[in-house]
Amino acid sequence: MNTAATNKEIDTARLWAELETLAAFSATAAPAVTRVVFSRQDLEARAWLKDLFREAFLAVREDAVGNTFASWAGREPELPAVGTGSHIDAIPSSGRFDGTVGVLGALEAIRALQRTGYRPRRSIELLLFTSEEPTRFGIGCLGSRLLSGTLAAERASQMRDRAGSTLDQVRVDAGFAGDLRGVGLPSGYYSSFVELHIEQGPILEREEISIGVVTSIAAPASLMILVEGEGGHAGAVLMPGRKDALLGAAEIVMGVEAAALKTGSIDTVGTTGVCEVFPGAVNSIPSRVRLEIDTRDTDLSRRDSVVAEIRRITDEVASKRGLRATVELLNADAPAQCEPKIIAAVVRACEALGLSHRQMVSRAYHDSLFMSRVAPVAMIFIPCRGGVSHRPDEYSSPEHIANGVAVLAHTLADLAA
Ligand SMILES: [Zn+2]
Repeated sequence: MNTAATNKEIDTARLWAELETLAAFSATAAPAVTRVVFSRQDLEARAWLKDLFREAFLAVREDAVGNTFASWAGREPELPAVGTGSHIDAIPSSGRFDGTVGVLGALEAIRALQRTGYRPRRSIELLLFTSEEPTRFGIGCLGSRLLSGTLAAERASQMRDRAGSTLDQVRVDAGFAGDLRGVGLPSGYYSSFVELHIEQGPILEREEISIGVVTSIAAPASLMILVEGEGGHAGAVLMPGRKDALLGAAEIVMGVEAAALKTGSIDTVGTTGVCEVFPGAVNSIPSRVRLEIDTRDTDLSRRDSVVAEIRRITDEVASKRGLRATVELLNADAPAQCEPKIIAAVVRACEALGLSHRQMVSRAYHDSLFMSRVAPVAMIFIPCRGGVSHRPDEYSSPEHIANGVAVLAHTLADLAA
């Protein structure tokens, strides 16, 4: 496609400098980046970005939760737009590339297309999502959940941060005052949505492949299990009479591993990341244990089979040991399959640019997971050093970023034609 940008048109030096500038909007000293949603640093970064969007002749609007849309009007602006974008919030002491590459990279993709004189038929819209990270309100992808109707406005408005402030209070203080019920996108708003992101895993680097073409996005289910037994003196209560809640919990934790392995798929994972023991004294038999478990898969029925197996194991362990156990499903999002038409466009872009590529699964979830409920989606991954992410030493090279931006520009031009 001769209208699309090649690596030549990508201003890598400018993009790199912008990534550096964005990283400086941080509550912690470099190289660590901390940018929590609606913090002073987040709001300053948003103001700086909106200036950049306007400099590129994009029309900027914001919704009631701060999702920011920067639109490049197409020749037929009444057609559903092509969307792209990602997030800029950063968990405490993380790095500078997670999310930001998909925002500033999308901006550079648009500018590169503008430099070639190309004018899209459909509008191309850059979307900056609010709070992809769960840091402040305990739930990830707040903005895209609301855009896609996955989270009800009434529930979202009352969610609280650690200081006890509701989302409604915090967003209004941050300058986003509209009605949250207006955030949801009408169906058919985007004809396609494509997100550029660092892989956050080691596969592309290890295989020396430039571009990952994401075919599905895994989604987590999280469970809370409360195991209750009988406490007592660690010396006085004899072993045969005990109802030790931690021993039951330990069997359940091993059962989580077994349940994930039992599917036989490399795409199934299960993790017990929280184990709180009460009363938590060396000379006291554990009376109560709280476990939090995360299980993920790209296949919904397989993932749900793991959840069912964890429930079965929990019941079995509880009755065998004379314990009480309850399983609460905290959250269960459905995985997403990417749209073949967008996958094909990304592959065509890689081939036009002579870049090596492979299809892969996204094991982390992203805003695109939720956007898949209201639009056909796909994602473009680029390598990151050692697969490291959410750490200050997160790194993706200028060359890899430029490749990703060129592929994104090609893909956007293709989808907007
Ligand atoms: Zn991210």
